Amino acid sequence: MSDPHTIDPELIQKLVHDALVWSSLHGLVVGDRNVERSGLVPGVGMVHAPIALLPNSFPEVQWNQACELAPIFNKLVDRVSLDGKFLQDTLSRTKKVDAFTSRLLDIHSRMLQIGKKEDIRLGLHRSDYMLDEKTNLLLQIELNTISCSFSGLGCLVSDLHRSLLSYYKKQLGLDSQKVPINASASKFAEVLAKAWTEYSNPSAVVMVVVQPGERNMYDQHWLTATLKERHNVTSIRKTLAEIDAQGKILADGTLQVDGETVAVIYFRAGYAPTDYPSESEWKARLLMEESSAIKCPSISYHLTGTKKVQQELAKPNVLESFLENKDDIAKVRECFAGLWSLDDLDAVKSAIQKPEAYVMKPQREGGGNNIYGDDVKETLLRLQKEGSEEEAAYILMQRIFPAVFPTVLVRDGICYKEHAVSELGIFSAYLRNKETVISNEQCGYLMRTKVSSSNEGGVAAGFAVLDSLYLI
Ligand code: ADP
Ligand code: MG
Ligand code: MG
Repeated sequence: MSDPHTIDPELIQKLVHDALVWSSLHGLVVGDRNVERSGLVPGVGMVHAPIALLPNSFPEVQWNQACELAPIFNKLVDRVSLDGKFLQDTLSRTKKVDAFTSRLLDIHSRMLQIGKKEDIRLGLHRSDYMLDEKTNLLLQIELNTISCSFSGLGCLVSDLHRSLLSYYKKQLGLDSQKVPINASASKFAEVLAKAWTEYSNPSAVVMVVVQPGERNMYDQHWLTATLKERHNVTSIRKTLAEIDAQGKILADGTLQVDGETVAVIYFRAGYAPTDYPSESEWKARLLMEESSAIKCPSISYHLTGTKKVQQELAKPNVLESFLENKDDIAKVRECFAGLWSLDDLDAVKSAIQKPEAYVMKPQREGGGNNIYGDDVKETLLRLQKEGSEEEAAYILMQRIFPAVFPTVLVRDGICYKEHAVSELGIFSAYLRNKETVISNEQCGYLMRTKVSSSNEGGVAAGFAVLDSLYLI
């Protein structure tokens, strides 16, 4: 693709106009932070989602590679989640210094103690990658196992880009077919519906656990609307506090919330310490875990998605204890970047010398938590000096440097010419009932593009925009 900064400004204005109309008409929208009630009342204060005007080029080889990895990672998550001892041991030092992870581990221990069995296992994941420019390697940033956002809107961005490319074919000279088909919303809804079917109670509902005042609600409504329209499955939305107030477990393990029997719990909250402002939210989390409802994710799936586990899996011979297929192991290992524990003194020394080559990560989700550049050095030196155990809260990761490319971003109806980098997220779903694997598949994608001067890539956090890709 040619440099979009060289496109005639009049054409850019037309494209922006059409993109804004398309987004409004097709529900590519989020709650507007300038409107107070936009996170509370659907239909009030909507604004188009921040987007890249045109898709971003991405090599077909690495695209295929990322897609092929999806079912392997699904299986890996499932296998790792079954090894309670591995999860507890891997996070045992982190537990001492990280109160949030410690609470999650407590719930997990309790489930191990009571011998809780999850026959029906549901994962809706998103594995994120960056293409390292120097080595041309597709490297995994992280694997999200809880509350993966933008499966509802991601597919719309691809549709928008296809539509712009085909309408402006003559002027742009681009082929809309090179934007891969993206069925993220319908795929996730389909697997949620399949899980609901496995629960086999026609009057039960899917419960979406939400944050109060969620502005990214339309992303979630896309899934639940599709569930209803295509699969005739009803869903309810509840915050953790509401679940504590209105929820109970019946003698047979059934979860009831507000009088409804819950078949599937789909978490779009509960991944951050701020989601648990009081004991009430923790009680709700435990209640759900103890119930027989299908959890997406279960506490063990959640813990499997921590950065510490990612780092542990990257150690020599660890993958081998969870996967047997040699090709699969090789494919997974190939996408691992350098990952180190802070008790690796050589790695720490190297990171102090060259902090710009590393990222320091705590066990957190949702963006905005990592440490970069000189702060890596300062933090490492401070931890060394204090000799505290706080170092166990972090991992070190090789910093990946994707190619910087010119792009046009649209936010709040205003277009900006920027230089940016991209991160490719591949959605995937896994559903198993006892020994029968019902789904194990790639479920579309999300490209996030952020201004190259920004370290973090969160769209909701305001650092990035939604994008799609143009295969080259
Ligand atoms: P979170 O769970 O909070 O999303 P991530 O590991 O995805 O945590 O980090 C947040 C963002 O930081 C990523 O979206 C990416 O933009 C950037 N980032 C994370 N790891 C690296 C890395 N190794 N190299 C370069 N950028 C990174
Ligand atoms: Mg994450
Ligand atoms: Mg991330």
